[in-house]
Amino acid sequence: MRIGVIGGTFDPIHIGHLIIAEEARVLLELDQMVFIPAGKPPHKLDLSITDPEHRFAMVELATADNPHMTVSRVDIDRPGPCYTVDTIRLLQDVWGPETAIYFLIGTDSLAELPTWYQPQRLLRLCHIVAVRRPGYPVDLQALEGVLPGAASLIHILEAPVLDISATDVRRRIREGRSIRYVVPRAVERYISEHRLYL
Ligand code: ATP
Repeated sequence: MRIGVIGGTFDPIHIGHLIIAEEARVLLELDQMVFIPAGKPPHKLDLSITDPEHRFAMVELATADNPHMTVSRVDIDRPGPCYTVDTIRLLQDVWGPETAIYFLIGTDSLAELPTWYQPQRLLRLCHIVAVRRPGYPVDLQALEGVLPGAASLIHILEAPVLDISATDVRRRIREGRSIRYVVPRAVERYISEHRLYL
């Protein structure tokens, strides 16, 4: 089995996440793509983050019509902070040694990889697949300097470059602008029903 994993705050999930997940699934011939909403993300402790149950519900709504996509509670049900390397190890234990895990990240997150908990170990545990994000060029050479072996272990996925972020979605809502087509219809409805991000 080949399983793709995309972790994030998903506050809220938007079409940027969905498009790169689907593109990676098809291009890398993955059997499944698993979304893992963060409980208490180690790098965002200082911000006020929406309740995990709301974020989880929105990811469920966004992925419900794609049989290849699922959502995991692994990071929500565990006391935080949850480090990616621990999450991947937990999943590998559940899925077994025959399963290859492809961890999908944007190049903004890739740039921060050296500051993550045990990045070297993470590189050995799974395939890291980086997707280009506007404003965050890939510098594998620089990464290699800090994390030896990184350049050959990280796969750059050529997918559409989308200048869409959850920060922008939240800003749009605050400013009374439209989020139609930026998030799936069901997520848009959920946000308005629960009066999120106002
Ligand atoms: P925020 O704006 O709140 O920081 P975000 O839009 O970056 O949120 P996250 O939930 O933090 O969303 O992202 C989860 C993962 O998806 C990260 O690895 C991030 O780099 C990646 N990602 C998010 N949006 C895009 C995008 N438009 N293109 C490529 N990767 C993306």
